[in-house]
Parts: sequence; C-alpha cells; structure tokens
Amino acid sequence: MTDLTRLSAAELAARLTRKEVSSVEATQAQLDRIAAVDGDIHAFLHVDAEGALATAADIDARRAAGEGLHGLAGVPIAVKDIVATKGMPTTCGSRILDGWIPPYDATITQRIKAAGLPILGKTNMDEFAMGSSTEHSAYGPTRNPWDRTRIPGGSGGGSAAAVAAYEAALAIGTDTGGSIRQPGALTGTVGVKPTYGGVSRYGLVALASSLDQAGPVTRTVLDAALLHELMGGHDPMDSTSIDAPAPLVVSAARRADVKGLRIGIVSELNGGGMGVEGFQPGVMSRFHEAVELLTSAGAEVVEVSLPSLEYALAAYYLVMPSEASSNLARFDAMRYGVRVPPAGADDPSAEQVMASSRDAGFGDEVKRRIIVGTYALSSGYYEAYYGSAQKVRTLLARDFASAFEQVDVLVSPTSPTTAWTLGDKLDDPLSMYLQDVATIPANLAGIPGLSLPVGLAEEDGLPVGLQFLAPQKADDRLYNAAAALEKLLEDKWGGPMLAQAPDLEVAR
Ligand code: GLN
Repeated sequence: MTDLTRLSAAELAARLTRKEVSSVEATQAQLDRIAAVDGDIHAFLHVDAEGALATAADIDARRAAGEGLHGLAGVPIAVKDIVATKGMPTTCGSRILDGWIPPYDATITQRIKAAGLPILGKTNMDEFAMGSSTEHSAYGPTRNPWDRTRIPGGSGGGSAAAVAAYEAALAIGTDTGGSIRQPGALTGTVGVKPTYGGVSRYGLVALASSLDQAGPVTRTVLDAALLHELMGGHDPMDSTSIDAPAPLVVSAARRADVKGLRIGIVSELNGGGMGVEGFQPGVMSRFHEAVELLTSAGAEVVEVSLPSLEYALAAYYLVMPSEASSNLARFDAMRYGVRVPPAGADDPSAEQVMASSRDAGFGDEVKRRIIVGTYALSSGYYEAYYGSAQKVRTLLARDFASAFEQVDVLVSPTSPTTAWTLGDKLDDPLSMYLQDVATIPANLAGIPGLSLPVGLAEEDGLPVGLQFLAPQKADDRLYNAAAALEKLLEDKWGGPMLAQAPDLEVAR
C-alpha cells in the first residue's frame, strides 16, 4: 500500500477525487506520522486531531453525496501559529499569547475551511516571526528533519519541517523578510512569498505590516501554486489587498517552459560581499549548476546589478523593528493573553501590570526589536532612521524596476549557507540577521519570491535553495520558471530531492 503521507497534495487530491482513498484515511495517516516523528521534530505547537478528522469525514460524506468540491478538498494542511484560527490556540510562539483562542478566522483560514482542507494544527515559529532559526520560539526549537542537530530556518521553521518530514503536504507560512523562503531552502522544500497584497493579511498577527505576506510551503511547485490560488485574491477586509485578477499561478506551474525566458543573476548575491563572509561554496556550486540547467533548456542568462542592495539589510532592520514595536504595543495584558502582576505591589497601576506582563511575556529577541524600533521612531530620530530606511526602499524598488526591464525573472541563492547547528548563532543576533541578505530585498520592494530546492551542498549534505524573483503581480513567472527547473533537476536526480533525505524513523 502506498504511504499516503509521501504523496504530493496534487496526487492526493487526484486520488480523493477518484475516490480511491478517503480524506479520513489521508488525515489519519498524517496524524499518525505526526505522532511518530513530531516528538523529535517539534514542528507543531498544537495538533487538532479531532477537528481535522471531523472536517475529513464531512468532506468524504459530501463527496459521496456527489457534491462539487474544491480541487484540494480533503487534503490536510498545517498552519503557522501566527494565523488566526477560530477556536484553536494561536500563540505566535510567544508566552504572551499562551492560552489565547481567537474568536475569528483569518481570511486565509476561512478560505481553507471553505475549500474543505482539514487543519492538522498550528506550526512552531520564532516568537512573533522574529528570527531565522525557530530557536526564538518560547516553546522550544524545531529541528531540521535532514539533521536533527540543525535548525530548520525561521521564522517559519515549523511549517517547513512539517512538510519536509511528511507530517503535511501543505503548510502555510508568513514571510516578512524571508520566513517562508529561507526555511524552505534549509529544509529542501518549496516556499513562496507572494506579491505584497496578493494574499490577504486580515487575521495574521502583524509583525511589520508593510512587509508581511502569507504564502505556501510545499514539496512541489505545483502544490505551492494550488495553495497559492486557494489563499490569494482580493479581500475587502485588507486595505492593502490588490483589487485585480490574481496571477494564474497554477497554469504557469503546468506550463514549465523556460525557452527564451530572460533570467538575471543578481551580481550582488552571486557569491560574495554584502557583509556576509562569503556564500558557502556548496551553495554556490548548486546554484550555478541549476542556472546552467536553465540555460541548457533555452533560457537566456545574464548578470544584473542592483546597486542599492548593499543598504537593504540595514534598511530592513530599521523598518521591521519600527513597525513591530508599534504593532506589538497591543499586547498590553489588558486585551489579550497573559497578565503577570508585578511582584510586591499591592495595588499596581495599569502601567505596572503592563510592564511586568510584557517583561514576563516577551522573549529577548522581541524585546531587542521593540527597543530598536521605539528608538528609531522617537521624535528627533524618525527622519534620520525610519525616513532614511524608507528612501532606501524606494531606491531598491527602482533598481528592481530597471532590472526587470532587462530580464523576466531574477535568481540568487536563497540563503548564503545551509542549516547551521542549533545554538550556533543565538548569542550573535547580527550574524543571524546577515542570513536574510538575499530574501529581505523582495519584502522591501513588495515583489514575489520563490525558493526551490536545487540539491545538497557537498560539504555537509544539506539542502540548498535557489530563489526566483519577479516583478509585482507577476507571481506566475516564478511558478513557470521554478516548475521548469524542478523538472530538469528531477530528471537529473531520478526523483524528488526529498527522496534523498535520511529516513526519519531510522536516522538519528
Ligand atoms: N529572519 C527575518 C527576521 O528575523 C525574517 C522574519 C520573517 O520573515 N518573519 O526578521
């Protein structure tokens, strides 16, 4: 019998439609897999077996009754714990939201439910999505399924690890500076940050409102496209939602043809400089091999420079903490989450309760960013810091615009290195921030990006990701190019890259 957990979402959906398998069977298989491996991986903060099976049974009944269903109906999904799910805990990986049960669904949750996808549970993440390793979760780190002494990337390490470890075929992540794409690269999964405004932010707990975007995490490009189409499209509940027809990403993924496609290698991310002590050699060799494959399939490859990229990381680490400090002001112990009274005060003031609750409820990285952001926004400094960072954003957007006059898509490695060892960068926030050098430019400019697994680095045998970038609203270009490359790579390997991963039940 085929192991249902190994199927792609598209394959499972086809079998469900043909009634060869039921959603209850598929959902139970995922729950069994979670029970078997998640003690080690810790991808989930909350598993809702009962709710997932109830949805599955409902879909099976409706299918049996001949009802017309969504193409992904009955395919189980995992959701990052920053997305509001009515009646299901939503902690953002933070103590301050311990026990908070949202009274409403995010728009993307509503769309998942309306389409009939059983929600397996909520995935682990760096607290409030601040981090690149998932070690900043208040509930303990997630481990990389390829090597459990390594981090899975972050902040969405839980969603990526769940997909890589076959705990789910579909997961949702959010990407403010790379939190979908970088964990995708480090776990050998596909991760997409859609165009800003392409997927509703209503009901996502806000980190940095001008950068945040939810997107799919999957094992194949087609699965990502299917989930992207389900989640995306206009939402009147989000004032920044794009009110235009959504890009046709599924047909683009099916097209998978790069003949004549103009591809630009971002010179600034082609191996060195940028304050990162060089890109890992094994990352660069897989990247260059992948680009050669694209060339052999008829793409025209040139190098393109984005001069302002040099300032992108600095600008991001002003904009992001500034917006985060403002967004996180709502966690005041009055409206949400935990309330910790100050020790020794008989009749504490509201301010004292807020201070002690925030002190107990937030972790170090969150506090660090609130302090930086509050400082950057304070009067007298606002123009010098936040104002300058916003100007860099404009320059960067112009660089991208002129690059996209020459090429259809841009490519770079997704991350300068493969997954590092747990604890390695925890005491050195700057070295962790530098890991985002290739992913944050897309958030600053609002353009879409996709990370595709392109092989294993020779030094450590760990996954490497290649990032495609496209102009705003041209997300379909990412899917076309990535699906073409995925096919070329699978022909070369004789199967998907994850088939090369150590078997979790055996490997230690
Ligand atoms: N790693 C980046 C940060 O720490 C990105 C986070 C994200 O995309 N949510 O801010």
